[in-house]
Amino acid sequence: MAMGKVLTLYINLQDKDLDFSLLKGKKFILAVCPSSVNNLTDKDIENINNFLEKGCILGQRGDSGICKYPHTITEPWHENVCLYNPSLDFDEQYDLMLNGKQVLEEVFGKVDVYCPINHLYDVNTVKAAQILKYRYMMDLNLQELSPYENNGLIILPESKEKGDIVYIHYSDLQKKEVKEFIKNNEFVLPNELQTASNPENILLVNEIQKKIRKYEKDLKKLKEKYNLE
Ligand SMILES: [Zn+2]
Repeated sequence: MAMGKVLTLYINLQDKDLDFSLLKGKKFILAVCPSSVNNLTDKDIENINNFLEKGCILGQRGDSGICKYPHTITEPWHENVCLYNPSLDFDEQYDLMLNGKQVLEEVFGKVDVYCPINHLYDVNTVKAAQILKYRYMMDLNLQELSPYENNGLIILPESKEKGDIVYIHYSDLQKKEVKEFIKNNEFVLPNELQTASNPENILLVNEIQKKIRKYEKDLKKLKEKYNLE
């Protein structure tokens, strides 16, 4: 049993003038998109670096954060894997992950966690993450998965405010239920979690559910947009 939960705070592209005072003294994963570094103020960068110095670890959300294929109808927020276009090969994924990693390292130092945008990734992402020596990679947890190891890379299946590994978007930080959640829980870094293996079939079910959820979101928006039943 973990003594606390692992928390990832996702900073989105539009977020700036960051205020994390609510999380002062806590250890968590601070996940930043490399392309948003230009959007952050000097004070934001100093603020993030202060948290990293006090024991938080850095997560990397892709590189640009946006799919390389044009999306005129469905949303473009994915990068390693596109559900509507040919998959990116290993070299392409490796290059974008490396580029983002270098951008973050220059400003913040060591990157420990790779966070594929929208939790969409494939075998090439895993391979690139292993070669680039991230310690952890995030996945979406829809099946009560345990954190597990894949050739030296630890996969952290997370969900929103539920289970031992949770994530919060920065823009939700001031919501009452989120404040309560932070107040009522202890947080630990992922090295305090026990890994365990998950049955192959459950991993597959999780993967399929994740994609279905994504398709459902897109479908809902499309139906609304075109007034379809
Ligand atoms: Zn796409």
